[in-house]
Amino acid sequence: AAQQETHGFQTEVKQLLQLMIHSLYSNKEIFLRELVSNAADAADKLRFRALENDSLYEDDGDLNVKISVDKEAGTVTVADNGIGMNREDVISNLGTIAKSGTKDFFSKLSGDSAKDSQLIGQFGVGFYSAFIVADKVTVRTRAAGAPAEEGVEWTSQGEGEFTIAQITKPSRGTEVVLHLREDEQEFLDDWRLRSIVSKYSDHISIPVQMYKEEVPEQEGPDGEKTPAEPGHWEGVNKATALWTRDKSEISDEEYQEFYKHISHDFAEPMSWAHNKVEGKTEYTSLLYIPSKAPYDLWNRDQSHGLKLYVQRVFIMDDAEQFMPTYLRFVKGLVDSNDLPLNVSREILQDNKITQALRQGCTKRVLGMLEKMAKNDADKYQAFWNEFGNVLKEGPAEDFANKEKIAGLLRFSSTHNDSDAQTVSLADYIGRMKEGQETIYYVSSDSYQTAKNSPHLEIFRKKGIEVLLLGERIDEWLMSHLTEFDGKQFKSIAKGDLDLGDLDDEESKKAQEAAEKEVEGVLERVKTALGDKVVEVKFTHRLTDSPAVIVADDNGMTTQMMKLMQAAGQ
Ligand code: ADP
Ligand code: MG
Repeated sequence: AAQQETHGFQTEVKQLLQLMIHSLYSNKEIFLRELVSNAADAADKLRFRALENDSLYEDDGDLNVKISVDKEAGTVTVADNGIGMNREDVISNLGTIAKSGTKDFFSKLSGDSAKDSQLIGQFGVGFYSAFIVADKVTVRTRAAGAPAEEGVEWTSQGEGEFTIAQITKPSRGTEVVLHLREDEQEFLDDWRLRSIVSKYSDHISIPVQMYKEEVPEQEGPDGEKTPAEPGHWEGVNKATALWTRDKSEISDEEYQEFYKHISHDFAEPMSWAHNKVEGKTEYTSLLYIPSKAPYDLWNRDQSHGLKLYVQRVFIMDDAEQFMPTYLRFVKGLVDSNDLPLNVSREILQDNKITQALRQGCTKRVLGMLEKMAKNDADKYQAFWNEFGNVLKEGPAEDFANKEKIAGLLRFSSTHNDSDAQTVSLADYIGRMKEGQETIYYVSSDSYQTAKNSPHLEIFRKKGIEVLLLGERIDEWLMSHLTEFDGKQFKSIAKGDLDLGDLDDEESKKAQEAAEKEVEGVLERVKTALGDKVVEVKFTHRLTDSPAVIVADDNGMTTQMMKLMQAAGQ
């Protein structure tokens, strides 16, 4: 080759490679899935770019992936005629990890490969998984539309560095050549490769082909002849876009593998919903709930959103407009029949069709969660533990679905005095005391302080359940949640606590008598505190503590004040 340059891998890539080779060993065949997945993405990208400039097809519009083996050389090659890469693309895509926050992510790895492989899974493995089975990988690629002389060859042994050279590559696209390790020769077997493709890549929408050797003419025992078959490329996958197929003909495994392809996740999804909508707006949605929260769930700048297709043509990744922020963990795609093929992010931003799709998709996800909560409480609990705090942003963001979202919330409460958030508002209402009209809660900076709040004393005494809120987001949630199922929410730390019908006549009399006995105390305390307080009152809420600070009924709770102070206001 011409001049060769050597580059070092980004530190994170080195760590990833090390970790992957050790921890994914038991599932090494997924390297093929990842390479085919990349080839399919490259085909999608080419198709999209060719909408504006169809000369990019270079008279070869039959997009496909070809897998071939060379037994002598001990190599497996995955070749596509997709978008290809230029020199800069190669250096950044196959030398660094493009996602922000990866440094942080890697610093959290424990070094215990069983645990870390879980983490690595949700992070995605991708191209580098080739090094699980190969001790050398060569990539030859040429970007669509570039001259043949601008091909690029990338080579690495998966250790610290890779080399780059310019080559001539007449055919557009990318080929990845894996030089199999000594003990991975099983992947030279045609049948083995075919079965891996049908196991993991059946849903890929372009043909995945393997070469079928020529079959000579044969003569049966009765002299009947079967004609010779010349060698040819033959498709090994179904090669139709999965979401366009009928639900009843798609297996769970296919849905799961498709999830891994589009999400770049390695773990199984928790749940999915596949819907074709006909009528005024026509679209198909396939929406997944992951089983684990991504490491960057709380990084609001991190990309999220659905894959957008228009009439089965891939348009863009991470279209945020189809999901509200509080459902940002949802992965999947929408395929619209109504949007124009040249739709841009700007057009999507303020568009009636986008709104209709967003409403539809939101409803699907909330419906899927409701169903899960009803039919499989354990699974729903697992969902809640991963994503509950994100869902709590819902009532503030999505007024129209407030009641539905509230129904999905789970809380800690005095009912079971556990920090596990398992109590639904319906559970709470079902346990309300005779005459109780209000849903009581206390919020604090942690579950422990909420649980030990002196405000709770009277409630514990009377056996009235109180929701215990100790997450940062809870105060924000409660400032947007005013009622559920016709019942008001009330912070027990705010203003006069009127227990209404829950207080009986007799105790009211006893309280008045008690107040008489210590007449004058209020005045003295008021003088001592001066204008630090608005008012000093008797209370009968406390059973053990002598005094408590409460917020004004119309004002912020003390917890909200703390949050505002922390935010510098
Ligand atoms: P991911 O697919 O999650 O982006 P990968 O590690 O699988 O991560 O691939 C990294 C990047 O390398 C891809 O995003 C893509 O830009 C580029 N790439 C990999 N394989 C190909 C290919 N066959 N054709 C074009 N680009 C590719
Ligand atoms: Mg990939």
